[in-house]
Amino acid sequence: MSDLTTLTAVELQAALAAGETTSVEVTRAHLDRIAAEDGALGAYLHVDGDAALARAAEVDASGTAGTGLAGIPVALKDVFVTEGVPTTSGSRILEGWRPPYSATVATRLRDAGTVMLGKTNMDEFAMGSSTENSAYTATRNPWDRDRIPGGSSGGSSTAVAGHLAPLALGTDTGGSIRQPAALTGLVGHKPTYGSVSRYGLIAFSSSLDQAGPMARTVLDAALLHEAIGGHDPRDSTSIDAPVPAVVEAARRGAGGDLAGLRVGVVRELGGEGAREGYEQGVLDRFAGAVALLEAAGAEVREVSCPSFGLALPAYYLIAPSEASSNLARFEGMRFGIRVGDDGGRDVDEVMALTREQGFGPEVKRRIILGTYALSAGYYDAYYGQAQKVRTLIGRDFSTAFDGGASGGVDVLVSPTSPTVAWPIGARVHDPLAMYAADLCTLPASLAGVPAISVPCGLSEGLPVGLQVMAPALADDRCYRVAAAVEAALGAPLTDRLLERAA
Ligand code: GLN
Repeated sequence: MSDLTTLTAVELQAALAAGETTSVEVTRAHLDRIAAEDGALGAYLHVDGDAALARAAEVDASGTAGTGLAGIPVALKDVFVTEGVPTTSGSRILEGWRPPYSATVATRLRDAGTVMLGKTNMDEFAMGSSTENSAYTATRNPWDRDRIPGGSSGGSSTAVAGHLAPLALGTDTGGSIRQPAALTGLVGHKPTYGSVSRYGLIAFSSSLDQAGPMARTVLDAALLHEAIGGHDPRDSTSIDAPVPAVVEAARRGAGGDLAGLRVGVVRELGGEGAREGYEQGVLDRFAGAVALLEAAGAEVREVSCPSFGLALPAYYLIAPSEASSNLARFEGMRFGIRVGDDGGRDVDEVMALTREQGFGPEVKRRIILGTYALSAGYYDAYYGQAQKVRTLIGRDFSTAFDGGASGGVDVLVSPTSPTVAWPIGARVHDPLAMYAADLCTLPASLAGVPAISVPCGLSEGLPVGLQVMAPALADDRCYRVAAAVEAALGAPLTDRLLERAA
């Protein structure tokens, strides 16, 4: 049998069900690959091979391997708390912390019989677009090791693209699943806000944070989505609705027939007149993807969403404001490190020292920005205005989908990222250039609607992603369209990495 790390989750499922392999073999193959490659790639912050193999043996013994995701390894972004397993959220302040409980999504994956390979690297507290804000290590893009893998879920994207895991969980607050997926040639989906539990997800911006799947194919992503989705009474913003039929949609879309589907190309996201900052290669691949949708029978037209251009400033007020409140819990008393507690200092001094040494520069910048935006004299001018813009962006989506007189569209499309992966270091000293990477992903985040990124080809040898956005709870449409694009392009884009290595 071919190298087990090159198989998709669906292929592994079939091999396990047919008894051609075991979960222990599959897990060991991935651990071997991690041992060989991760020193250079830096995808994982924590791997416990013995625990993974013991878990795999348990699943094999239960006889369930090959049903659903049972027996299949997964990697988890280090933002999810995992009982007894180190969890840092990419921050020094949580170094050494072993949580006393697990995130709902981690529990659901365990109950589904998956095998956790380890925890993946990320920008500190998920703040960033390149994974360079991790307090621990740089993560490299398997397509070009001198380039960033996107962020903040860059450890997860490199793990899956580099074949160090068939599946991974990421989180997306402003694009952190979709953008790293786009930059590494993966499928990444941000579910409808509230449709996947946030319980045990270390909070960055609670009104935006969503967990979701990253995989090499659309169907693999859908299987992972189904395993984690659904109502959770422990999350106060969890929606009590069934998980959209994403697996069925992925299968249907793979048939390549989009007849009757109405697709809107967002004028403000790389459309006519809004192309500044977009690389020509990205625009070309995007145009190619739109042509594929048309060839599959979709009706394509341009749609204007005038407030989308304000998403970036609105997001960079709202997200830091919520972060400044959420991160107040890291005071050196209850979790992680404590600095300067040697008897001579009072509690305020210890907290200040702990935060000074425990938080990195980007996290401090966000806390300062957020505290300022929320302060009494500036609240209306900054946070209040940003909330109004957020409402307008939601209305743009409603108008596009409901249509009124002009008739609505079923999905909106855009590039996922204005550029391909950039060289490591190129934007670290320019926060605004880093924030600009989120131009296309922020509107769906602010509106809480689902959005997927699916590979649509290469530009100068680097992956480009197509973003498909749908109305709330219509995640299945994202998968259907993504699967049609994937089917039209043939094999998973990441197969090219295997050909290159061979
Ligand atoms: N890049 C954005 C930020 O830095 C989004 C991050 C995310 O989605 N977690 O805030």
